[in-house]
Amino acid sequence: MVKIGQFSFLVEWAGCEVPLRKSTILLIVLAAALALSACANQQVGAPVGSLPAPQVQVSEATLAAAEPSPTKEAVIPTTARPTALPETNQALDIPKPENRTHYQLNLILNYYTRYAVVDETITYTNRSSQSLTELVVVVPPKYFPGSFSLRSLTDGNGSPISGWQENGVRFSIPLAAPLAPGEKTSLKFSYQLNLPSHEGTYGVSGRQTNLTNWYPYIPPFDEEKGWIIHPQQVENNMLVGEYVVAEMSDFDVSLQLTDRQELIEVAASAPAEEKNGTRYYHLELARGFSFSVSDSYFEHEITQDGVRIRSYVFMEAQEAGIAVTEIAAQALKLFGQLYYPYPREMISIVAADFLHNMEMDGMVMISYGVFDFYNKTPKTNLTILTPHEISHQWFYSMVGSDQAQEPWLDEALATYHEVLYYQTYHPDLVQWWWNNRVDGFEPKGYVNSDIYLSGGYPSYRDAVYLRGAQFMQELRDVIGDDAFFAALKDYAVSNTYQLAGRNDFFAAIARHSQADLNALLAKFFRN
Ligand SMILES: [Zn+2]
Repeated sequence: MVKIGQFSFLVEWAGCEVPLRKSTILLIVLAAALALSACANQQVGAPVGSLPAPQVQVSEATLAAAEPSPTKEAVIPTTARPTALPETNQALDIPKPENRTHYQLNLILNYYTRYAVVDETITYTNRSSQSLTELVVVVPPKYFPGSFSLRSLTDGNGSPISGWQENGVRFSIPLAAPLAPGEKTSLKFSYQLNLPSHEGTYGVSGRQTNLTNWYPYIPPFDEEKGWIIHPQQVENNMLVGEYVVAEMSDFDVSLQLTDRQELIEVAASAPAEEKNGTRYYHLELARGFSFSVSDSYFEHEITQDGVRIRSYVFMEAQEAGIAVTEIAAQALKLFGQLYYPYPREMISIVAADFLHNMEMDGMVMISYGVFDFYNKTPKTNLTILTPHEISHQWFYSMVGSDQAQEPWLDEALATYHEVLYYQTYHPDLVQWWWNNRVDGFEPKGYVNSDIYLSGGYPSYRDAVYLRGAQFMQELRDVIGDDAFFAALKDYAVSNTYQLAGRNDFFAAIARHSQADLNALLAKFFRN
């Protein structure tokens, strides 16, 4: 059996526990059906199909449908190479991008009628070198027919804007005068949201209301390509990957619950300050702001290295809700050592009332199925997928990329971070992880596939996540551990707050290794 290089360090974290807090209990009988994917497939519209219930020990961590338990030996040739992790954490001392877009979002939500009204002000500075005659705004709720109703659209002074055009989720908004480089302008939207029945990150399910990609946003503007907007990809009634590309922005958000708010718990991308019944949030340097609202959450919180790690789970998963904070604490510690400490005050880990997992800024959602089938050992999807989602706080949130065109830049890395976690904390399970998570699927496809590849979610998972993890391991084998970890850290630090691309990744590798990667690229990448 081939053994993967291992590294280890002493795990220490302060467990400052907060007692479980109970809101209303809803007794739900679970007809558990699992699709254990990491931040990828969402069912669209139709109810989730009935899939075979997983065994206690779940091996098909990324399966959208049951597949035979893999028994094949690992195909990754690796040499055992003990690795020392970087010795100390490094403070996050990276210049912040200036003139960031600011979102003021005032949300009034009735959880029980699934109805919301929002007043939104976007303050935008033209950071390009060209004058802009229009602004383009993406309105993700428009993907759900009838969900978004615009009441008014005005400029910053409240004067109605005329002549704007709507094309699907894309609004083209003419400016009264061209916006010169460095100039600032504002748009004010007032709208209603009728939240759809949808088991996913936007909409309402039996136990939860989720608000991700719930407000109009201004996409990144590329000097050569213009506005970076991609359509969502749906195949076989499932969303494939993520289509939103967002740049680092600042958020001031308020949330008012109008009905029985004493029963309701709110998980969000940032901690709340409550004043006179309204919750206020401030989050700087984030790509989005998300909520998950429920009257059925049980919460648990620990603090590690000053970061609050708080879980929100359903009643039957309270034990797993405690475990997930401890797994997340380990992951935050490891990734903090590899890159830089998690830079936010809090991370929320929310049980998703649907069958996939998803990362947001300051928050991750992990399927209730993963929680329900937590088996109290590290050989379980909760232990596999929590580090995956946590690693997206670096490779998605801090280091952005084009999730539609180059999803490997966050998903291949996040999948590989699962095994980095196992190498550190459960080295005896590293081979198990490779067999069950990756190699047993005999994945095919190009690592740098986009979300529009043919074959839908299974092809996407195989190419981007699984071949991606194999590529990362082979890259590590070719250039050696020292160069590999130095280059990954270099990539992370030099692209923090930015949108990175393939060239940025390989430039970081080249700064630490002269190894010839042509054979590797020919094997894994489409040029
Ligand atoms: Zn992921």
